[in-house]
Amino acid sequence: MKPPAHSSVVEPLPRLRLRVTAAAENYVRAGHPWVFADSVREQNRDGVSGELAVLYDRQDKFLAAGLFDPDSPIRVRVLHAGKPLTLDTAWWTARLDAAVRRRAGLFDARTTGYRLINGESDGWPGLVLDRYDTTFVLKLYTAAWLPRLNDLTALVRERLRPERIVLRLSRNLQHAAEHFGPGRHDGEILHGPVVTEAVVFLENEIRFEADVLRGQKTGFFLDQRENRREVGELARGREVLNAFSFSGGFSLYAARGGATSVTDLDLSPHALAAAQRNFRLNAADPAIAGCRHECMQADAFDWLARGDARKHGLVVLDPPSLAKREAERAGAIRAYARLAANGIRRLTPDGLLLAGSCSAHVSAGEFFGAVRSAAVTSGRRFVELKTTHHAPDHPATFKEAEYLKGIFLKFG
Ligand code: SAH
Repeated sequence: MKPPAHSSVVEPLPRLRLRVTAAAENYVRAGHPWVFADSVREQNRDGVSGELAVLYDRQDKFLAAGLFDPDSPIRVRVLHAGKPLTLDTAWWTARLDAAVRRRAGLFDARTTGYRLINGESDGWPGLVLDRYDTTFVLKLYTAAWLPRLNDLTALVRERLRPERIVLRLSRNLQHAAEHFGPGRHDGEILHGPVVTEAVVFLENEIRFEADVLRGQKTGFFLDQRENRREVGELARGREVLNAFSFSGGFSLYAARGGATSVTDLDLSPHALAAAQRNFRLNAADPAIAGCRHECMQADAFDWLARGDARKHGLVVLDPPSLAKREAERAGAIRAYARLAANGIRRLTPDGLLLAGSCSAHVSAGEFFGAVRSAAVTSGRRFVELKTTHHAPDHPATFKEAEYLKGIFLKFG
């Protein structure tokens, strides 16, 4: 209901009320954080991006409250389900504190880069907060947070006291952000001093740079920390090939763990330049300084498919998501199998393989199955060392949030 045109008094809009399908109601009751546009049965008026929408169940009782997003197929991102309550400052504060508490004891001063808020799975749908030493990066995946950005910045400052907060925006909302209020942009400094270059942080005592202003995700792939640590423990005496290396995360761990050489292979010259800087940043570590480091700029799929004579004792395959949409799932599974087969051909006797997937549309079972079938087809003897999932600072509380999987195999 709009205020009448002749009225000089601006009436507050009535609360945005939605009724959803029975199936969506069940999902929300079970804790799922998304309500899709085609699940909305009734809506009392048009909604504005970022306003609070209240969902009612079939008995007309309060079901949940969430952020309304008219521009996304995910129409409401649930903030709270269950009993009605007021989402006031105390509520938001408690929610932030809960995310911080969930990470208590996970990290000490040897690791200053990790995720503080992992979106929906921490009760902050479409929002990520990563810490890189004293710089925090707030990344938004829905424009629905834009109206709350100032409050959010104030809250994070008050509770966590970062030196700096950088705003990052997923590509699909950069345009909307430019036109929101005074205008917001990707890489904007929300608080603290200007930064023009990458910031340096620690991960298990290794120094890394994060390109917080322009880098992929929030500047570093924090989600692979546990797999990197594992690679560090397996690398002694081995020649390592790190395919899809990005800034050399796996390589630094391998070098510190005693690898004789590491080769970074990536399509992006920027990623490889960052890998070289990361090696220099850690030159005080004798194992890292003593490890031969090479960079190769190439398409890793093509390069691995070519029969190169050089074999490696440890191969890491960590490609970007191969299925951005459900329709790409079957093709992605075949591509993972092909990639693993080509990686296995590069292994010396006794060689180790780590294959990773970050495609949410490919399940753990499908991915592990693809890699195992490639191992069987290779005709070589192999044992499976372990499979891995999300790092503890990247919790996944619903199926669509489970994207990361890794599998370690040892060949004869
Ligand atoms: N393993 C990394 C993260 C990898 S992200 C880490 O632990 O930090 C995926 C990387 O694959 C990116 O650096 C991207 O530049 C690279 N990439 C994308 N397509 C590629 C291709 N066809 N060949 C080689 N590298 C590619």
